[in-house]
Amino acid sequence: MLLRHTPTEIKERSALTVNPAKTCQPIGAMYAALGIHGCLPHSHGSQGCYAYHRSALTRHYKEPVVAATSAFTEGASVFGGQANLVQAIDNIFTVYNPDVIAVHTTCLSETIGDDVPQIFAKAKADGKVPEGKYVLHASTPSYVGSHVTGFANMTKAMVDYFAESNGRRAKTVNLIPGYVEPSDMTEIRRIAELMGVPTIMFPDTAKVLNGPLTGKYRMFPEGGVTIEELKKSGSSVGTIAMGRTASMPAARALDAKCKVPCEILGLPLGLHGTDAFVDTLRRMAGVSVPAALNLERGQLVDSISDWHQYLYGKRVALVGDPDQVLALTRFLVALDMQPVHIITGTPAGKKYEKSLREAVAGVPADVNIKVPGDMLLFHQWIKNAPVDLIIGNTYAKYIAKDEDTPLIRYGFPIYDRLGHSYFATMGYRGALRLLEKLLDAILDRKDRDADDIDMELVM
Ligand code: SF4
Repeated sequence: MLLRHTPTEIKERSALTVNPAKTCQPIGAMYAALGIHGCLPHSHGSQGCYAYHRSALTRHYKEPVVAATSAFTEGASVFGGQANLVQAIDNIFTVYNPDVIAVHTTCLSETIGDDVPQIFAKAKADGKVPEGKYVLHASTPSYVGSHVTGFANMTKAMVDYFAESNGRRAKTVNLIPGYVEPSDMTEIRRIAELMGVPTIMFPDTAKVLNGPLTGKYRMFPEGGVTIEELKKSGSSVGTIAMGRTASMPAARALDAKCKVPCEILGLPLGLHGTDAFVDTLRRMAGVSVPAALNLERGQLVDSISDWHQYLYGKRVALVGDPDQVLALTRFLVALDMQPVHIITGTPAGKKYEKSLREAVAGVPADVNIKVPGDMLLFHQWIKNAPVDLIIGNTYAKYIAKDEDTPLIRYGFPIYDRLGHSYFATMGYRGALRLLEKLLDAILDRKDRDADDIDMELVM
């Protein structure tokens, strides 16, 4: 087994991360930027960073992720990257003609101290940004935070650069869906449409990173929020930010800049998470919940009550991004399961950790929580106190194999399975799918381990 060397004995570590449960800021910034229609993400740093970020997203989404790079060499590392970025902006608009270029920095350009707004001013003064085209940037030094921080920073940049108030309140509600799958963004929008609420969602990677194969390559796919919509977001009646870590900075910035009131929720995942979203949307837009949505909710409640007996008391180890981990923890607790080892690699803060501890307050077992923690500690906890199920990204499969424990792949990245881009886990329908995955994992193991005499035909 690949991780057989993991020691059971846990030693206190304060300045060493082994097997991180996160990746670097620009990956999240690049993902968010792809949620703007007609956008070419641009990595202001060296080619190695950019190649890694693109390949991480390409492997997860199985789509060609396009981006550009400032391609730093030794010269830029010493003298700064202004010349490279100005040249890049000129080349990109001339050759690829995007509507907008979204620049994110890397460790190297941050360490040099490149002033990207000043470089933009120079590019504009030199006539390198054509009329009707846009540039925006987010600062994404990867020696702090994680891909989730990068996503949050780029989403906030959309507000900082584009949102404006026209002095009137439109009926639209801004939805900031957080670092979720394109399928989840589609599902969140579908719920809003069912409720008859006009929305502006940003970022929006649906139809960008889960688009169809048509035989014709489109560098800038159909999906994504438009710059016009981003401008109008400053006149919406309110904003719902889903996931404190990924979405709150943008929602707060919009409130501060354009006085658009915001509600900060958890992800609309599971029964209660979706209830909170639907109820907030209902109040904000002044609409009622349609029968079709009540039906979906009722079907979820029915399925939970039908299958609850198989999930009751099952011990779960959970690793992932903070917003997902918190929402999943709440859902598992609502199912009477026991999340006992919980780690997120992103430094999400004391308030976040408090929410996590409150979520597991009623769990009748010892619960380990580490924010931020790493996969080595996660594995050691499982070795010391085994679980019935692991939930985590593809990297968790080595732990699952080593410990002979079922794994549900969830989060980012998933390099070795299909589904996440197309089948949502948000909303009532998504919760039903999650419930199915939980049951499949638990019941497959039950069947596998059952003596012949105990094999049940009907569950
Ligand atoms: S951690 Fe820094 S140097 Fe490494 S790939 Fe990410 S941005 Fe580049």
